[in-house]
Amino acid sequence: MSSDTQNDNEAVTFADLGLSSKVLSAVSDAGYTTPTPIQAGAIPQALQGKDVLGIAQTGTGKTAAFVLPMITRLEKGRARARMPRTLILEPTRELAAQVEENFVKYGKNHRLNIALLIGGVSFDEQEKKLERGADVLIATPGRLLDHFERGKLLLTGVEILVIDEADRMLDMGFIPDIERICKLIPFTRQTLFFSATMPPEITKLTEQFLHTPVRIEVAKAATTASTVTQRLVKSGSKPWDKRGVLRDLIRAEGDEIKNAIIFCNRKVEVSELFRSLVKHDFDAGALHGDMDQRARMAMLAGFRDGKLKLLVASDVAARGLDIPDVSHVFNYDVPIHSEDYVHRIGRTGRAGRSGKSFTIATRGDTKYVDAIEKLIGKEIEWHDGDLSTLTESDEDHGHRGRGRERAGRGRERGERHPRDEHRARKTRDVSETAEQPSAAVVPAEALEERRNRKEAIKANNAEREPHRDNEQPRGNGRQDRPRRYRDEDEVNTVVGFGDDTPAFMKVAMKV
Ligand code: AMP
Repeated sequence: MSSDTQNDNEAVTFADLGLSSKVLSAVSDAGYTTPTPIQAGAIPQALQGKDVLGIAQTGTGKTAAFVLPMITRLEKGRARARMPRTLILEPTRELAAQVEENFVKYGKNHRLNIALLIGGVSFDEQEKKLERGADVLIATPGRLLDHFERGKLLLTGVEILVIDEADRMLDMGFIPDIERICKLIPFTRQTLFFSATMPPEITKLTEQFLHTPVRIEVAKAATTASTVTQRLVKSGSKPWDKRGVLRDLIRAEGDEIKNAIIFCNRKVEVSELFRSLVKHDFDAGALHGDMDQRARMAMLAGFRDGKLKLLVASDVAARGLDIPDVSHVFNYDVPIHSEDYVHRIGRTGRAGRSGKSFTIATRGDTKYVDAIEKLIGKEIEWHDGDLSTLTESDEDHGHRGRGRERAGRGRERGERHPRDEHRARKTRDVSETAEQPSAAVVPAEALEERRNRKEAIKANNAEREPHRDNEQPRGNGRQDRPRRYRDEDEVNTVVGFGDDTPAFMKVAMKV
C-alpha cells in the first residue's frame, strides 16, 4: 500500500480483518472503529501467517498492526517455561514498555503472560516471568542476549518474531545483535518487520531473514500531516532572544495549548531551557537521552497523565515515543537534519486530530529552513513577518527589549544578564564539561529529590544488582566488558537532570 492509496480502506472496519471476537471487543473498548492504513494492510496478512515488511513510522498505528493479529494467533496453544511463544524486539526501553501497554489494552479479554526484558531493571523479576512461561516476550536486544547467555531463555519455541523500528536499531548499532537473535529462532517462524525508512543495511537484513514478505508501505517519511498548522517564527540568535520568543508564543497560545513538546537540538539546551521555563513559572519537564531510566519514565508518565504541560526534549529522547494528543510542537531550534523536522511535527496532528507547530528561526538557520521546505515540498508560513522584518528589539528580546518594558524592575526573576550568559557559555565551551550547565537555580522537585537521595542510595546498595544501564551497541568482547552497578550509576544522577546533574549536587549526596 502506498501513501497515495491510504484512503482506499476508508470503508474497511476492524471486523473485516479476520481478528477474533475477543480482540475485536477490546479494540472497540479502546474506542477505535476504523483501522489505519498499516493496520488494514498488515493485519489480514499477519493472520494468515505471512511475513510482513511494514514501512511505517510511529503515529501510523503500527503497534496495533502487529499486536492485534498476534493476540488472535496466541489464542491457540500455551506457553512453556523459559520458552516464549512470541518475541518483539524494540530499540529502547520506553518503546518496549509502550508495546507492553498495547498488549495489556488489547489483550484485556485474554490471559496472556507478558514478560518485559529491558535494561535498568533487576534480572530476578524478569527471570521469574520467563520461568512461568511467556506468551509474549518484549525485549531490547542487549537484555535479551544477557538472559540467553545466562541460560534462562530458550528461543526455539518462538512462533512469531517482530522487529520494530529497524532503522532505529541500525542507528543504535544493534544490527549484529538482531542478526544473532534471528539465527537463534527457528527458521519456520513468522516475521513481522517494521521500519520507517529502508536504508541498504535494513534491506539486506530483510532479504536475509524474511521469507517472501508482503510489503506494506504507508506515509513517506517526508510528509507532514495536513492537520498540522506549521509556522516559522523569527528570532534574534541569542539564547535569551529565543527564550523570550518562546515564552511569548506559549503565552499567546494560552489555553489552546493542551500539552506541548518543545524540541531542542542539543541536550545542554534541553537542560537550560527547562530550567529557564521553570524559573518563569511554566509547567515544564525535560527529557533527554542521558537521563536515567527512572527519571525518564517519571517525566514521561507525568506528561502523559497531564500533570506536566510542557515537555522539553531532544530528538533522541523523543523519537518513537507514543505521546497521544499533543496539541503543540515548538521547535526551539530548527533541526539540522530535515527529517528530524518531520519526526518532530509528527508528534502532533495524529490520527486526524488538529495540531500546531511553531519553529523558531534565526538568520543563521536559513539553510536548514530551506532544506526542510525542500524535503516537505512546501513553504512554511511565517507567523509574524519573516527574518527580513527582524528589528533591534527582536534581536535582544530578553535584555534591552524587556529592560524597557520593566523599567525600574531590573531583570525578570531568574533571567541571567546576557553578559553572564555569554561568560557561562564561554567557560563551558572551553572546559567541555560541555554538557554540564551550571545550575543557577535548582527546581523544587530536584531539591526534594536530593533530600531523598541517601535513602534511595542505601536501598540500591542493598540490592547491588548488576545491570546494563542503557542499551548500548556491543562489540565482540561482550563478556569482557566491565559491568556497572546501579549505585555507581545513580549516585551520579538526580531525577530530572540525568548526566547534566551539577557537580555540587553529586558531591553533597555521596554516602
Ligand atoms: P503507533 O503508531 O502504534 O505509535 O500508534 C499511534 C497512536 O494511534 C496510538 O496512540 C494509538 O493508540 C492510536 N491508534 C492506533 N490505532 C488506531 C486506530 N485504528 N484509530 C485511531 N487511533 C489509533
